[in-house]
Order: sequence, then structure tokens, then C-alpha cells
Amino acid sequence: MIIKRRKRKAKTKQSKKLRGRSIIPINALPIHDRLLSEEQEKNVPLAMSNKEESRKILRLIVYINEFDRINKEGKQKCRNNDCENLVCKPFRKYCSRKCSVEFTRWYNKNFYWRNIRNSILKRDNYTCQICGLKLNKRKRHNKKIENWLECDHIIPKSYYTFLGYNFDTLENKIKTVLEFLHNDNNLRTVCYKCHKKVTLNNFKTKSLLIDLNDDN
Ligand SMILES: [Zn+2]
Ligand SMILES: [Zn+2]
Repeated sequence: MIIKRRKRKAKTKQSKKLRGRSIIPINALPIHDRLLSEEQEKNVPLAMSNKEESRKILRLIVYINEFDRINKEGKQKCRNNDCENLVCKPFRKYCSRKCSVEFTRWYNKNFYWRNIRNSILKRDNYTCQICGLKLNKRKRHNKKIENWLECDHIIPKSYYTFLGYNFDTLENKIKTVLEFLHNDNNLRTVCYKCHKKVTLNNFKTKSLLIDLNDDN
């Protein structure tokens, strides 16, 4: 218990240092965030959002049964990546406990959004990467200031097709999820209020992107 308390104290000290200022230098931000910072003063209306777009992506999750494979004789193969064994009782989808544990761990770590989001919030020390707001780990939601922490895609989800990421085959799905949608480097913690503004700006920037594509 004592060790835990000491750790907590150390964290609070760090949080005080971070509070009240942006973590990322402005030049390091992608262009749409820089636009946002310029527009923050102008009180941008926040009604629009690309919720529709997000819903579309939600339907494109890679389901665990998509990893099931059958060999030439029509027999069920082990689900684990690169394992060429057939399934073996008592397992219905795996050849062994080792493969079952290994694959499930890999899948849960990389394809369950809740796990990924929580790991990003933890990595960012429960601090908004735009305004520097820090919320308590247990109370990510603060009723007093009506704000909470969310996980944002730095390059937004709605851009994935423009960047050559697709969802047409299982191979492409995995690539899109691992390299783009669930890639640590493309994720950051933001508070609800900052997220709303960023989303609005992404929406605007996307329409510019579509215009550029039409010209070609
Ligand atoms: Zn196996
Ligand atoms: Zn914020």
C-alpha cells in the first residue's frame, strides 16, 4: 500500500507540471489542428459532425471468426496466424491451448477498441493533448466542468480511403486496423470539448480534400 501511495504522489507532481498548457508544439500538429488553433478564437459552431462516417466504420470491424481457415480437404485449420495445424479437441478453433491463448491475446490487444482507447488514455497520463486538461483515472468524466476524456484519431477515420487503406479483403482490413485505425502513433487523448472542435475541422478539411480529388 505504501508503495502505491508514493507512486500516486509522484504522478500528481507530474500532472501539475503539465496542467494548463498544450503538450504538443503547434508546428508538430497536423494542418487541420493548426487551422483549429487559429479558429479557436472565432467561436466555431459545433453542430456538424461526421457521426455518419464513424457509424460506417464501426460496421467494418474485423470479427474474430474472419480468421477461421479451411484447408484443401475442407478441414478446419487452427485460427492462430501462420499456424498450419488442424484444430484439435477439446478446442474448436485452435490446435492447442498455446495457440488459443496467443491468438486471443493478440486479437484483444489490437482489435478491441475499448482496450486500445484505455491504453492510449493511460499512455497520455489521462491528459488532453490539446488543452492539457487532466482528469482523474477513475473519474474520466468530470460533472462540474461537463468534460471527459476521449481517444482521437490524429488523421481522421474518414480519410482512410483517400490514403489508400481499404476494407475489401481480410488482409486489407487487418492492415487498415493495425497501421491506421488502431495505430498508437495515430491516436491521442483529447477532452470532449477539444474533440468536438477537432471533429468539426476534420469535416471541413475533408470537403476540401474531396474538391481536390474531383479536379484530378
Ligand atoms: Zn495452432
Ligand atoms: Zn482539451
